[in-house]
Amino acid sequence: MSDNATTALMHSLLRPELLASKAYAVAPGEGLIKLDAMENPYGLPAALREEWLRSLADAPLNRYPDAHPVALVDALKAHVGLPAGIELMLGNGSDELIQILVTAVAGSQRPVMAVEPGFVMYRLLTQQLGLHFVGVPLDPDFRLDLPALLTAIAAQRPAILFLDWPNNPSGSLFPEADLEAIIAAAPGLVVIDEAYHAFSQKTFAGRLARHPNLLLLRTLSKEGLAGLRLGMLAGSAAWIQELDKLRLPYNINVLTQRSAAFYLRHAEVLEAQAEILRAERERLFRAISACGLSVWPSAANFLLFHAPGRAAALFSGLREGGVLIKVFTGHPRLGEYLRVTVGTPAENDRFLAVLESLL
Ligand code: PMP
Repeated sequence: MSDNATTALMHSLLRPELLASKAYAVAPGEGLIKLDAMENPYGLPAALREEWLRSLADAPLNRYPDAHPVALVDALKAHVGLPAGIELMLGNGSDELIQILVTAVAGSQRPVMAVEPGFVMYRLLTQQLGLHFVGVPLDPDFRLDLPALLTAIAAQRPAILFLDWPNNPSGSLFPEADLEAIIAAAPGLVVIDEAYHAFSQKTFAGRLARHPNLLLLRTLSKEGLAGLRLGMLAGSAAWIQELDKLRLPYNINVLTQRSAAFYLRHAEVLEAQAEILRAERERLFRAISACGLSVWPSAANFLLFHAPGRAAALFSGLREGGVLIKVFTGHPRLGEYLRVTVGTPAENDRFLAVLESLL
């Protein structure tokens, strides 16, 4: 088939929104100190790593994974702190669960809403499905503009409102009372995405039973196991039963199931790591401020800072100095902003040393 014929066929078969969208971009990080993707920098301590490997030794790779890993789900429910009667569904990362949620409402003719800036996958997955996405701007300090959001909810009646709590990329933790007002006002689902719970130590889990339109997203990624790809969606049994129909069979592989069960028996190790990272976040906040840059208070494991006129130069200078962070280029709200993930104390020292040398 000629190139022209391929293009014509693609244009006749694929949604215009898909053709117009860009794939999720991941910057190559080989050989660099990776402070771009909110990963935990530590990994398992050596002794625990050995034990983990032993726990995988007899994992049956010739068989499909358990399609309904009840014991694992029960252990995760306890880990998240879900009240009785609330169910949990597992995804290949919370990304997959976001995709399932958006797919579930695809026939409703109602938009999907999130705050802007917010986690990029809400917009990307919604638009790729050909659905209307409404982004409601945060205020200039990345705080929730409650009146604007309530007005948008009333006018647009979104099928789903995603709220990343804390917000990615700002780290803002919106007031709980505002979230309550939003849940009460929303005519559709409200999904509170607590991906950074290990660093905010705040949760709406205890309120799930009270709000029939509330769902909660969690992930093991930011707790320290990004490589496992294990996300969780919590909500009433009725919601989870319907949404679970969209989950692909066997979406959680054998090694992930085994590793997650192992992790839950040793969660205190990663909790101790999170505690160090929380302290390092505060140290980094002070140090970046001391460089004369505006940085926003964060309840997550990253910090957003503003470098008007020199964000791109700082990003490349840091990369040349061996440190990869995230730069937001061409974003209407985030042009000239940079986001750094909190690393180990030594990694953070390196980041600060290179940053200071560039200023
Ligand atoms: N939600 C938020 C707010 C995030 O920032 C991210 C990852 N950057 C995710 C969800 C996706 O996490 P997972 O690794 O579970 O797919």
